[in-house]
Amino acid sequence: MTETPLTQMPEMNSETRSTIVCETAAVPKAARCEAKLREDLAGCSADLHALGFAPGTSGNVSVRLDGARVLATPTGCSKRVVGPEDLVVVDMDGHQLAGTRHVTSEIDMHLAIYKARPDVEAVVHAHPVFATAFASSGLALDQPLCSEVVMTLGTIPLAAYATTGTCEVGQTLAPYLQHHDAVLLANHGVVTYGDSLMDALMKMETVEHFAQICLVVRQLGGGATLEGKHLSDLLRARAAYLEKAGRRVHWANGASASHS
Ligand SMILES: [Zn+2]
Repeated sequence: MTETPLTQMPEMNSETRSTIVCETAAVPKAARCEAKLREDLAGCSADLHALGFAPGTSGNVSVRLDGARVLATPTGCSKRVVGPEDLVVVDMDGHQLAGTRHVTSEIDMHLAIYKARPDVEAVVHAHPVFATAFASSGLALDQPLCSEVVMTLGTIPLAAYATTGTCEVGQTLAPYLQHHDAVLLANHGVVTYGDSLMDALMKMETVEHFAQICLVVRQLGGGATLEGKHLSDLLRARAAYLEKAGRRVHWANGASASHS
């Protein structure tokens, strides 16, 4: 995300501040080219593998084709070699509409996110080492240690454990979907989402980088978290940025550290 000087961020008025419930404003999208999306998704999968976030056949990626269909990676396939022709198409209930392979068993998690967030165009799920280690230690990445992360992601909560490949995963994510774009999955991994495949992938990179920083900060003795006006200014700036993008999120929702 492009940094915007805080001085240029519009002040939120009291009416905006009182809007606790996040609202999404679905923006009409131009006609999508399925062939281009297939190439982009295969490229995103290869990038995910190259980053070391999806060893073996783990991880999965999807993108909206339109309001009723989602394009997704297949199950049992290395993200390094997934090609445009390997991808599968499902409807919003997870029924496979096209593709010679079987869809990922974790498609319900993707669909839960698309249903909850009409603004989301792409979902990336992976098992990056450091972020997954936090998720497997029962630790959210919710300490305001880095201003850039506060601005871009707010906090990164930890969703309760659920059996992979079941609808339970979407249910445990539900409390976090409106106010967060990245969530740790207990004893499992990470899911990120955004308005494009690149956006969702960059958020995954940011989560993993932040997890590395958090680990080192812990080793150094705990660090110094952003507090008071410094923190509230960043959170207001984040809320204002999201509002420009069509989302309204109460600024204080990024400040919670209650899910650690
Ligand atoms: Zn997984």
